[in-house]
Amino acid sequence: MSIDAAAAGPRRTDRPLDEAGVATAVRRAAERGTPVRPSGAGGRVPGPLVRTDHVLLDASALTGIVDMTAGDDQLPAGEGTVRVRAGETIAALCAALAAAGRAPATVPDAPRATVGGAVQLGMYGGAPGEGSLSAQVRAARLVDGAGRVREVTDGPDLEAVRCGLGALGVLTAVDLRTVPLRRLRVHERAARTDELLAEGFLAGHAWTECDVAVHSGQAVARWADPVGADEPEATERGAESWGRAVSRLATSWWSSRSSWPPPQRWAPGTEGPPHEVLPDPQPWDPDLSEWAIPDAAVGGVLRELGAAVAARGRELRPVRVRTGRSETGLVHPASGRDTAYLRIRTRGADQEPVRRLAAAVCEDAGGRPCWTTRHAWGPDELAVAYPGWEAFRAARDRFDPDHRFTDPYLATLLGP
Ligand SMILES: Cc1cc2nc3c(=O)[nH]c(=O)nc-3n(C[C@H](O)[C@H](O)[C@H](O)COP(=O)(O)OP(=O)(O)OC[C@H]3O[C@@H](n4cnc5c(N)ncnc54)[C@H](O)[C@@H]3O)c2cc1C
Repeated sequence: MSIDAAAAGPRRTDRPLDEAGVATAVRRAAERGTPVRPSGAGGRVPGPLVRTDHVLLDASALTGIVDMTAGDDQLPAGEGTVRVRAGETIAALCAALAAAGRAPATVPDAPRATVGGAVQLGMYGGAPGEGSLSAQVRAARLVDGAGRVREVTDGPDLEAVRCGLGALGVLTAVDLRTVPLRRLRVHERAARTDELLAEGFLAGHAWTECDVAVHSGQAVARWADPVGADEPEATERGAESWGRAVSRLATSWWSSRSSWPPPQRWAPGTEGPPHEVLPDPQPWDPDLSEWAIPDAAVGGVLRELGAAVAARGRELRPVRVRTGRSETGLVHPASGRDTAYLRIRTRGADQEPVRRLAAAVCEDAGGRPCWTTRHAWGPDELAVAYPGWEAFRAARDRFDPDHRFTDPYLATLLGP
């Protein structure tokens, strides 16, 4: 079956209210021999990870914080743990933690996503010293393919479950690492991409991102630091007004495409807790593709993208660049290496050649497609890209020997 064929949609949607209800729904599907796919907020992730013609198990009613601890002797200073149900949204989790003076160690960009969906697809945040939300999982509870509740606390099972693609079971709750809540002050400026990379900008602040016009090498750089620990004067030097930043970036491409909003995020000097200032107000574009490339390759890949699209007379909307730490999750896109994430925005069929060109450049640099976006990879490519691929498939066999959670769509990605 082609994964691009229009799906009829799930034959049935179950929305259990608690963990026992999840277990019952999975056992019922097992008795009927029906595949089950878990879902959270039902975000707009394209492709086989959320599409199903069988039973959709909507875990979004499993909300609330179960437990919150901090100052435990076993943990590094300042760290704590929150046990949160998997259907809780990122926004609700952050608000509840903030009320207690805490924050998730990674604050992802999608407030309406559920914790379960974000963890399962490895949603990252943009803090260079941190991993994704998957990396913050200290323990997980899930209902396996037989409808049994399992608590996973360490070892290869946890490394498989922490970015599990909804293929090992239905998460009901996770323990996430927390840190003290800090107010962040956010900034943005226009700069040359090569200068930003030479000064180590991407790793130089608590949170960073760049929108890079690859054909010109011009960029809008954004960063955030805790209030009271601002960047030195030198990085502010050369800061430009937002208007100049936009006009420099705009000249060749978006003046003729007024439907594309400029990448403005905030007024300079804005301050607030991370979950209020960092999320991008622009709607998520299900057409975008995102690649996780080795951190050290970022300069070369951006130059190569610029040269490749220019040589073919094409243009690319600004590429968003963020970084994250190497991860232990077996199939997290940052598995085993510090990573730069490149968000490549193309839209519509006429941009398909540009998308393929960009994918080829990222692949040549050892890139892996992020699970949350469109790509054309299948089991063969994934097995080469992920040293932990077979270990992940073995974990799937342990948690779900009958492959209850692998419907025909997901099989196009994971293999049978
Ligand atoms: C506005 C917006 C901004 C975004 N920004 C970013 C970003 O900056 N970085 C980034 O990495 N991603 C980003 N994303 C993508 C985001 O990571 C995914 O959309 C996220 O997985 C969606 O969560 P969800 O609750 O909608 O999950 P769904 O789309 O419902 O599910 C996603 C996957 O998780 C599985 N799943 C869901 N719940 C469970 C569960 N309880 N147990 C087991 N498996 C489960 C599903 O089977 C599916 O494979 C963004 C999305 C949006 C909408």
